[in-house]
Amino acid sequence: MTTSAHQPCVLVVNSGSSSIKYQLVSPVDGERIASGIVERIGEDASTVSHTSAAGTTTREGAIADHEAGLRTVLDLFAEVGPDLAAVDVVAVGHRVVQGGAEFGGPVLVDDDVVATIEALSPLAPLHNPANLAGITVARELLPDVPHVVVFDTAFFRDLPAEAATYAIDRGVAAEHQVRRYGAHGTSHQYVAQRVAEVVGRPVEELNTIVLHLGNGASVSAVRGGAAVDTSMGLTPLEGLVMGTRSGDIDPAVVFHLVRNAGMSVDDVDDLLNRRSGLKGLTGQNDLREVHRLVDEGDEDARTGLAVYVHRLKKYVGAYTAVLGRVDVIAFTAGVGENDDVVRAQALAGLEPLGVVVDAARNAGRKKEATVISADSSRTTVLVVPTNEELAIARQAMEVVGRGADEDDEAPAAVGHA
Ligand code: AMP
Repeated sequence: MTTSAHQPCVLVVNSGSSSIKYQLVSPVDGERIASGIVERIGEDASTVSHTSAAGTTTREGAIADHEAGLRTVLDLFAEVGPDLAAVDVVAVGHRVVQGGAEFGGPVLVDDDVVATIEALSPLAPLHNPANLAGITVARELLPDVPHVVVFDTAFFRDLPAEAATYAIDRGVAAEHQVRRYGAHGTSHQYVAQRVAEVVGRPVEELNTIVLHLGNGASVSAVRGGAAVDTSMGLTPLEGLVMGTRSGDIDPAVVFHLVRNAGMSVDDVDDLLNRRSGLKGLTGQNDLREVHRLVDEGDEDARTGLAVYVHRLKKYVGAYTAVLGRVDVIAFTAGVGENDDVVRAQALAGLEPLGVVVDAARNAGRKKEATVISADSSRTTVLVVPTNEELAIARQAMEVVGRGADEDDEAPAAVGHA
């Protein structure tokens, strides 16, 4: 973790309701110069953990709000380094979950952008207000640096109408902005671009299925670098079985529970977002724990894992049909990069579709882009570690006009929709 003073870098901020994650990244060579997290904002036992060339420094004690949290982070940069005044911070890049139909790429923050993100909050009540809290204090505390917003939905803004549209009354949908927005777009776009680099072909020629499997999970179908379908919808609840979210479900389950189980709409919201998925099925949202239970002979864990994998396989099949020809299937994020059992089971039996996973190549956790398909496989199956912070940093640098192409050593910058 060393950097030269003249190397441009971007402070990437991901502000949640009770946390702020940050990284100081060099968009040119991808170096992570410093990183950290403020957790349990608003509680008495808040913690800040800051990692830089000097090691990891931890602070504990009450942090009342996002402003106090970010002030502590800036104090840590000043005390243990790197000194933000001495490095060339060209932008602060903020992650925002919901950009609606308005934002198809990253934008420079101004008061109008802030107002629009606020107006989109009903579509992402858990996320946009928290993202905005971070933007507001960061603009106050770092007023001399341009701030850029990168939206999770941007990569999916121009989905074809047949993939973006719910089959409901079109007047109601238009009036209430009900459509499929997708999420995790920064990761899907980054991975689709990396796939092209890894297989050494132009992204324009490739049909790719990206499986972003973390605690939240989503699939996208990408044709020639553009998303043509994705599994998340109006909100990140739709699609795959996730750590705590149900994914696809008959909407009538909601009516049934409200009418017959004495549950309010908020109760069902909490059930489907926080108490379902692997957590609801097995008691554990972390796949490492689910595997441990399966190994102990736990029947619920076995069924839960089977439901998780079955949903994945259905989406691979559906997106194979959408794309017609699949050049690459790419696994990414915490589960996709680390869980060889899920990878193998999700693609088992797809040999007639031209997908053959090689057991030896698939074995173990992957820290780097790795081919896991057999040489006989028509579709190349890859594990490609995602790096959302680097993608945000590169997009932010492009917006402020400091493109990576200023440096001869630079890899191609990740484009934006
Ligand atoms: P993410 O949201 O991308 O950080 O992914 C977090 C999830 O990745 C955890 O909840 C686990 O289910 C999964 N995970 C992380 N490490 C491993 C591992 N070594 N083996 C299996 N799953 C893992």
